[in-house]
Amino acid sequence: MKKLVWLLSAIIGLLLIVIIIKTIAFKSMQTDPGNISLPVFGDESADRLSRAISFPTISYEPGAPIDTAAFGGYHKFLSEAYPLLHSKLKKEIFSSFSLLYTWEGRNKSLKPVILMAHMDVVPAGETGSWTKPPFSGENDGTYIWGRGTLDDKAAMISILEAVEKLLSENYQPERTVYLAFGHDEEISGLKGAAVIAAALKERGVEAEFVIDEGYAVTIGMVPLIDKPVALIGTSEKGYLSVSMTVEMEGGHSAYPAAESAIIVLNRALKNIVDNPMKAKISRPVDDFIRYIGPEMPFYARAIFANKWLFKGVILKIYAGGSNSNALVRTTTAPTIFNAGFKDNVVPTKAEAVVNFRILPGETSNDVIEHLKKVIADNRVVIKELEGRKEPAPDSPINVPGFDVIHKTIRQVYPEALVAPTMMIAASDSRKYTGVSSNIYNFAPIMVTSEDLARTHGLNERNKIEDYKRGIGFFYQLIKNCDN
Ligand SMILES: [Zn+2]
Repeated sequence: MKKLVWLLSAIIGLLLIVIIIKTIAFKSMQTDPGNISLPVFGDESADRLSRAISFPTISYEPGAPIDTAAFGGYHKFLSEAYPLLHSKLKKEIFSSFSLLYTWEGRNKSLKPVILMAHMDVVPAGETGSWTKPPFSGENDGTYIWGRGTLDDKAAMISILEAVEKLLSENYQPERTVYLAFGHDEEISGLKGAAVIAAALKERGVEAEFVIDEGYAVTIGMVPLIDKPVALIGTSEKGYLSVSMTVEMEGGHSAYPAAESAIIVLNRALKNIVDNPMKAKISRPVDDFIRYIGPEMPFYARAIFANKWLFKGVILKIYAGGSNSNALVRTTTAPTIFNAGFKDNVVPTKAEAVVNFRILPGETSNDVIEHLKKVIADNRVVIKELEGRKEPAPDSPINVPGFDVIHKTIRQVYPEALVAPTMMIAASDSRKYTGVSSNIYNFAPIMVTSEDLARTHGLNERNKIEDYKRGIGFFYQLIKNCDN
């Protein structure tokens, strides 16, 4: 007995030593920001964002008519506001309104880089409920207000401002820089980004990296971290919707059978919600842990540094919140349910639609196989709906493209930490997978969760000071690409 106690304490002691050593060895991945000096971007830069916001370049529904006056006016504004850019860069127009600018580099042997953004915005919703009119671009001295000030005209205008500034300093990049601006991102990007990407691919363009919206410098959004965290998306979840239909005999509700279409479908739905796909730490989330774990308080650091022991705990922590749960598994969301038409008739048909967001490393086939297994009832007919997207391939983080973005963020936002992670939402950038294997999602805006709600909601606005830093980000990024 005494021996057993001794043995047990020895094992626990050893375990503790290993945990502590691993925690100490769990070193910060943040680069040293060093010292850089950025130009000062004045009030004219803010005025140009205000002007850009005043064009209601709205994407309504796919196939709905385009407000050609708004998009045309926006194009005209751009050519007037950025004269150097328009005289020195090659401009091409795709599908009437999407724009591709080519800034030739000096060294043709270097791979080009692609800076992306989109010029369309979602509708303003309840226009009357906005504090400032959504297409006023009003500058109140602290904020610029309006649809697009965060998503995504801020990024587009910041890129143009940065290039115009560099041109005014007679800067010519070593490697070619493409500026690619779609006009239909909010409704699929099939006419904009997809067409530009296809043209670049056909020309044999192979980019060192592509950067597009998706994540930002987040404030107070990463648990246990006080500092702002700049998240860089390195992969995107997939998308799948399936319909589930049950057809059975109906009848009078006074003599109901033990089962009906509604009962069977309801049971199937309960089964799939109660038995979701397994939680997993995929590569992008593993990368996130490696970058953010070392910055956490000691007890949390000890958990994340010892994944070999605490994997179950980590998965439990993630699965506990609906936002973090989406990072560790393919999510299941019933979105439509239709059955019945009269209170005293048992309907013969019930139908539901379930939407899945597929974790990288899994496929839509895996999801359907899983569904069939947990439903285990062939009266439920499963049909895949249009719009499937497999998860985007993971972009590596041990390549110069990632390093240059990481370094630039640390230089421009030295108070912020950098961490790669997975994209839950979709962006235009996945259409560029044929042009580069290094696609990153980061826009230089600073957001709290309250700001995020504004992006497709009411009262979207951007702090002028933050917007100017965003210009500095692109200015420095282009320079860093040459070092
Ligand atoms: Zn956007």
